[in-house]
Amino acid sequence: MFFQSLLPRPEIGANSFLFDFDGTRVVVDSGMHPKHFGDDALPLHEPLGFDALDGIVLTHAHLDHLGSLPLLQRRHPRTPVFMTEATAHLSDIMLHNSVNVMTSQREELGLVNYPLFTHDEVNEATQQWSLRGMKRGFEIGDRGVRATFFDAGHVLGAVAVQFDTPRGTILHSGDVHFEEQSIATGADLPRSGVDTLVLEATRGDSPRDPSYTRAGEARRLAGVIRETLKRGGSVLIPVFALGKSQEILVLLHQLVQSGELPSTPVFLGGLSTKVCAAYDELTHRATRLHRGLELLRELPDLQFSARPKRGKARARLPYRPGAIFALSSGMMSENTVSNEFAFQFLDNPANTLCFVGYADPESPAGRIRNTPHGYPVRLNENREAVDLRCGVESFDFSGHSDRERLREYARELQPRRIILVHGDPPALEWFQRTLSADRPGCEVIISQPHMPIPLG
Ligand SMILES: [Zn+2]
Ligand SMILES: [Zn+2]
Repeated sequence: MFFQSLLPRPEIGANSFLFDFDGTRVVVDSGMHPKHFGDDALPLHEPLGFDALDGIVLTHAHLDHLGSLPLLQRRHPRTPVFMTEATAHLSDIMLHNSVNVMTSQREELGLVNYPLFTHDEVNEATQQWSLRGMKRGFEIGDRGVRATFFDAGHVLGAVAVQFDTPRGTILHSGDVHFEEQSIATGADLPRSGVDTLVLEATRGDSPRDPSYTRAGEARRLAGVIRETLKRGGSVLIPVFALGKSQEILVLLHQLVQSGELPSTPVFLGGLSTKVCAAYDELTHRATRLHRGLELLRELPDLQFSARPKRGKARARLPYRPGAIFALSSGMMSENTVSNEFAFQFLDNPANTLCFVGYADPESPAGRIRNTPHGYPVRLNENREAVDLRCGVESFDFSGHSDRERLREYARELQPRRIILVHGDPPALEWFQRTLSADRPGCEVIISQPHMPIPLG
């Protein structure tokens, strides 16, 4: 019985993990690295062979967990893929969008084998998707392995998965957030009875600010937006299309309701709008806060832009003063709506750019954060730099638990073994050091490519 990371490098990227429970073989997640291309962006799936898995589990619909699923399914066409209803709905949207993005990248970047899969293949893959609810166990294979989903917070539909096997119980956390967000509930994970915990380590390299509260952060955001609007500027909030866009919309709605913000037009990008529509369709069926609240119909204080036509999603949105632009991508990657929009936004001192999540230092968002006021910043390698004259503020509305909260959880759960995944090396090392010192009897292992870890 063993666990093996299928990532090509120890990092957050093409997440995919093999569990071999004495011959019952299950793969959890099948991601694609957002910054790499072609084979370099994919998990190491070749050693799994063909048609040789008993089950695939998808924890949630972010592309670093989902992006290569049709390729894995191409090799294992008869394997059932287990996920929640919300994850299935959102994954369908994300994968079709991914085909469109890869199709444009074929032209722009000269990637001749793109798209790596087609719309027809996505449709075919969905035939094997098998929907499961929270806390209702189901069999995988026929050798006594049972899987159970637990709400992981994070984004709509996200789960942690527990495997009960004849030789022990394993919990894979997925991406997890214990604190309530505006829409996502806090995670509700098992409190005992786990032998091996596979734990995400995203925020392991940054300590918790002891004075941090989500409500305090929301008040600070409202203050920055009010100031910006008063001086005749607009606010740009770069957001991930799935999760962060919807959380920020409801947060803005609540700030208007409580009188902390004036009613202000809000503009959204194309993919975010599609994801909002899916949240609305699922509003009574998925685990979430504000059940029944429809983002696209019932936030009358927010005035949405029309949904761009298919294929025009990345066309430039015109700038206007006195508005909030919540545009993807969150890291302002080249050729995305937020990146294009920034060309007409950054050099205006009346405006404020508000970051609300993580930005890789190498990404355009990371470069902006590291550029002093008044200096030029490059948004796209092939275009002129833009002078950074607008205000820049950063806020913490992460969808991941901070490291102290995950540490508390690991102490409470008392597993015999912890396997660390989904973190950059310094983050993984902090968790290994800290969790080993907390409970010397517990084996804490950083997962490495090509390294099977025994689970027995
Ligand atoms: Zn995620
Ligand atoms: Zn992730």
